[in-house]
Amino acid sequence: MDFTISDKMQTVIEMMDEFVDKELIPLEAEFLSDSAENFQEKIEEKQQKVKQMELWAPSHPKELGGMGLDLTEYALVSEALGRSPLGHYVFGCQAPDAGNVEILHEYGTQEQKEKYLKPLVEGRIRSCFAMTEVDQPGSNPILLDTTAEKKGDKYVINGRKWYTTAADGSDFTIVMAVTNPEASQYLQASMIIVPTGTPGYSLVRNIPVMGHKGEGYFSHGEVLFQNCEVPRENLLGPEGQGFVLAQDRLGPGRIHHCMRWIGVCKRALDLMCDYARKRYINPPDKNLASKQMVQQWIAESSAEIQAARLMVLHAAWRMEQEGSKAARKDISQIKFMVANAMQNVVDRALQVHGGLGMTDDTVLAFFYRHERAARIYDGADEVHKISAAKQILKEYEGKKVK
Ligand SMILES: Cc1cc2nc3c(=O)[nH]c(=O)nc-3n(C[C@H](O)[C@H](O)[C@H](O)COP(=O)(O)OP(=O)(O)OC[C@H]3O[C@@H](n4cnc5c(N)ncnc54)[C@H](O)[C@@H]3O)c2cc1C
Repeated sequence: MDFTISDKMQTVIEMMDEFVDKELIPLEAEFLSDSAENFQEKIEEKQQKVKQMELWAPSHPKELGGMGLDLTEYALVSEALGRSPLGHYVFGCQAPDAGNVEILHEYGTQEQKEKYLKPLVEGRIRSCFAMTEVDQPGSNPILLDTTAEKKGDKYVINGRKWYTTAADGSDFTIVMAVTNPEASQYLQASMIIVPTGTPGYSLVRNIPVMGHKGEGYFSHGEVLFQNCEVPRENLLGPEGQGFVLAQDRLGPGRIHHCMRWIGVCKRALDLMCDYARKRYINPPDKNLASKQMVQQWIAESSAEIQAARLMVLHAAWRMEQEGSKAARKDISQIKFMVANAMQNVVDRALQVHGGLGMTDDTVLAFFYRHERAARIYDGADEVHKISAAKQILKEYEGKKVK
């Protein structure tokens, strides 16, 4: 594997790094204050600048108006953008929209592409993805209570979902619902596009997560479908193929998360080193950086980040070379490995900051709260460990170990 970064990518990364430093990190204090005024307008202003710089939507295909970067290239820019909680949103490559773009691009009809995909990629609208249910375990997604019954030329949807990220302010949701209850387990569900203005659809609340409800893009909704009728042409992909689409969406989605988390780690390490140098515990010459315990945290964090980065780059490369199926074990391994590395690094950085780390005066407490979920969403650690172990054990079938 060649680790050389092309001149073009080097320039792109430098431009993004500079933008994050100069334009986004200064906005964070307001973002973290919970009293931000006209914050969405400020975000949109930054998005315009990104578009003018031709750095918009790095992960989306060129023909849709994105930069068309491949996965390994995107891994590098995602690390740069992940340093700020605002990075991916301002550059038009945030989850869950990025995943919705991918499935609409692959499975959408021409009409769906015009109506939903085009404005989504352009950043004119936002979307969300409603699969997880309040009353069923998300770890076993075939257990779905939500139904979409066919009545004439309509689907009538009933169900309750939660953790529908960014539902607040979204123009449409892609809902996973049972359309074919008589079919075998994995062929019962379908994905259906529901414009959020449809009667029968409601955002019940933004769920308080780690003490914060959030709003707009930065929130997680509980959403209700009560006899919510949409035309049959809102079916996305073939009927009964919801799990196939979900796999297509989640494979790249997981790798995208891991790429962003490396950026979170990098920022946390930057803050940890900076503060360790600045904080004098025994003046005039003994700062935190002179303490071996802190040095150990710095060394361990740096090594864990590099290990995580290489694993992610390798998984991205493998996915490109051999496809999602061949990279399944790699994706499961990075999903839990990088999430845990991030948790360790953020925790150490917060500890080095002492009481300051617990406040929202740095971004660390936000990372600590918000990124804990990395070990749960898109497959909890345990689910990915089981999946990786099964695939590893399979490699031993019929093998003579000496
Ligand atoms: C911040 C955040 C954002 C999210 N965004 C979205 C979104 O946009 N759209 C969406 O549809 N969903 C979203 N989710 C939901 C997420 O995908 C689910 O929470 C996840 O799939 C786990 O499902 P569950 O919460 O029902 O937990 P369960 O499935 O009930 O599992 C509970 C716990 O049991 C353990 N466990 C599960 N299976 C096993 C096993 N086989 N062996 C051992 N232990 C096991 C795990 O530790 C797991 O954490 C989001 C979640 C979070 C936290």
